[in-house]
Amino acid sequence: DDPTGNLHVAILPFMAHGHMIPIIDIAKLFASRRGVKTTIITTRLNAPLVSKQIPTTAEIHIELIRFPAAEAGVPEESETADFFSSTAQKMFFHAAALLRRPLDAALAKIRPDCLVSDAFFPWSAESAGKLGIPRLVFHGTGYFALCTAVCIRVHKPHKNSDSESFVVPCLPGKIELTPSQLPESARKEEEGNPFTELVREMAESEGKSYGVIVNSFRELEPNYADFYRDELGRRNWAIGPVSLSNRRSEEKAGRGGRGTGESSSDCLKWLESKEPDSVIYICFGSLADFADSQLKEIAAALESWGGSFIWVVRKDPRTESESESEEEWLPVGFEDRTAEKGLIIRGWAPQILILEHEAVGGFVTHCGWNSTLEGITVGKAMVTWPVAAEQFYNEKLVTAVLGIGLPVEAEKWVRGTGDDEVIMAEGIEIAVRRLMDGDEGKEMRRKAKELREMARMAIEEGGSSHSSLSDLIDELKQRSHV
Ligand code: UDP
Repeated sequence: DDPTGNLHVAILPFMAHGHMIPIIDIAKLFASRRGVKTTIITTRLNAPLVSKQIPTTAEIHIELIRFPAAEAGVPEESETADFFSSTAQKMFFHAAALLRRPLDAALAKIRPDCLVSDAFFPWSAESAGKLGIPRLVFHGTGYFALCTAVCIRVHKPHKNSDSESFVVPCLPGKIELTPSQLPESARKEEEGNPFTELVREMAESEGKSYGVIVNSFRELEPNYADFYRDELGRRNWAIGPVSLSNRRSEEKAGRGGRGTGESSSDCLKWLESKEPDSVIYICFGSLADFADSQLKEIAAALESWGGSFIWVVRKDPRTESESESEEEWLPVGFEDRTAEKGLIIRGWAPQILILEHEAVGGFVTHCGWNSTLEGITVGKAMVTWPVAAEQFYNEKLVTAVLGIGLPVEAEKWVRGTGDDEVIMAEGIEIAVRRLMDGDEGKEMRRKAKELREMARMAIEEGGSSHSSLSDLIDELKQRSHV
């Protein structure tokens, strides 16, 4: 029997899709290992999102904590944080900081052996400290973006120039960025800006934490994994791609993963009718809310290219036009003209199921880390179209380091300014054509498929990510039983 006994891991997800999906996958990974009990701590409105992602057979407990809406003076619905507006974002962060007391009470009650919490809860390091248990940080990005962010924060290469590109100091690989490609928190480091303050606290709390769990696999970005550990001195465990690990174990157990359902089967049936590598999948994650004018440019590009596509369009429900029939973002007659070629998904798509289908040969992505890694995991080449946050860093990994994608080149194809700014159809079409129709794209698909194999090996028993999780669990067990 197991000499070191059981381990109880508590997990505190940050309440936005892009953070919840992978950290719940991490909870499932812990729960799949022998002798590990897993509890996810979340609020009432978020609990259904959590349970939806957990198979009924997984032994994961959900511990509810109260969302401090009243104390924060914010509406109840601020509890789910898929922000389309910056006001909602501010309200949410304000309330999230007050989750500390409810978390402390929950930890005192369930007494776990360790806490895995999102980087956006820096104060949770102290909550764990009070109980004398280790806190592990989950950032939601890969090594490349983690390393780039630290190099930029420490060296501030953009301070000397507003426009010129610079090579990221210290970072291996001579990576070039422009100031406009930095996240707002790095670009506008103002005293008194609550977000700047949060980023500072996050960095500080990492020093007080036991280590970092990274949703990546070593073979994908070995130079940056080494740099993160050796040069930046971060103890860490790469245990990803976490979506792949769970999909595999769910397949073995004969269950569908997340995203199975009626609409998924329609979508898959449609894909069955297409040639391998012929369809491009376009999706900008859970938050992107493009202006109607930009959606029209995308539609024009797809129509003019003439190939097959699945295009996911999400709109902020609060700004969406009242009348469903008046979809002003589509050129008149677009769906009739492209009926054979294209599928528009309004709302939420079963992304992983679509991406892994052999008919899909390319992915137009905003480079959120989950989407990027999901694309890599199923061996797809990409057109990169980053919008915000660390997405520009992920773009560099995909294009400059891995060579499995090409950029949409926003700066070259942009028209208008401010709210009227759009990337023109012509630029989008050129990028899609290069990826889908040319030799260049073929070579990128070949490389992407190599990475897919590496990802699969990493999560198998004996693979780097599988072993890394075993090492972490052993270490935590020993620590909790001394
Ligand atoms: N996603 C999905 N269907 C959609 C949009 C997004 O399943 O229609 C999933 C996607 O597979 C990924 C996550 O939502 O796991 C988005 O995370 P990402 O880091 O790519 O971007 P974010 O939404 O945080 O900007």
